[in-house]
Amino acid sequence: MPELPEVEVSRLGITPHLLGESVMRVVVRNPSLRWPVPTEIQELTGLTITGIRRRAKYLLLETDWGTAILHLGMSGNLKVLPHGTPAGKHDHVDIEFANGKLLRLNDPRRFGCLLWTREAVEQHPLLARLGPEPLTDAFDGDYLYQRSRGRKTAIKQFIMDNHIVVGVGNIYANESLFAAGISPKREAGNIGRERYLKLAGEIKAVLAKAIGQGGTTLKDFTGSDGKPGYFVQELQVYGRAEQPCVQCGGLLKEIRMNGRSTVFCPRCQR
Ligand SMILES: [Zn+2]
Repeated sequence: MPELPEVEVSRLGITPHLLGESVMRVVVRNPSLRWPVPTEIQELTGLTITGIRRRAKYLLLETDWGTAILHLGMSGNLKVLPHGTPAGKHDHVDIEFANGKLLRLNDPRRFGCLLWTREAVEQHPLLARLGPEPLTDAFDGDYLYQRSRGRKTAIKQFIMDNHIVVGVGNIYANESLFAAGISPKREAGNIGRERYLKLAGEIKAVLAKAIGQGGTTLKDFTGSDGKPGYFVQELQVYGRAEQPCVQCGGLLKEIRMNGRSTVFCPRCQR
């Protein structure tokens, strides 16, 4: 599933091709995504892309008239291709630009979306209640400490809650908790300020590192073959159950939390 780093890398990958360019045509081959692609998406035609931003895992294609909101769901990916590139089975939407390029949304499982709003996009129901971006100054250990007081939720669930902070997916929750030495099962309200300072720093570091690794694959965005923008990451715990901990050599343990694989070192994480 595309996580925040993949979406950010997608944003970086498409921006040089599309920013400042005007839309010639929007081709919707299959509107049946998670929510139907609205017919109003055709309002994009003739407009210039003035900004390409990301909020959580939503990509925002901004114009002076409205904003297209794009989400890659479970299996979506974006490519920048020349006009006339034949569409494959799951190529649901093309946005064609006057510069001869098109932005193609491919999504086999169709959990992604493409919506259009003329309102202030931050007030859109999908975005209005989201917590801060993890890589901004609005997110730090003091913030986590304050928000966690009185909360009995397990820390892993707490940092994966989009109302608390966006973009900490399952892999990154596992990795940052290991790096911070915090057990995923510990009650959020029972963790002190110092440990939250460490955790917030590790969340930022693990996400920034993944984005940096993804940056090396940017050239793939204009290729017509292969997967664009997704990358193998160096993981310390996720996917390594029953393998030795890189810190202490003891065996990593796997449990399920909210149905998600949770791998941790019982010795190093308390
Ligand atoms: Zn260990």
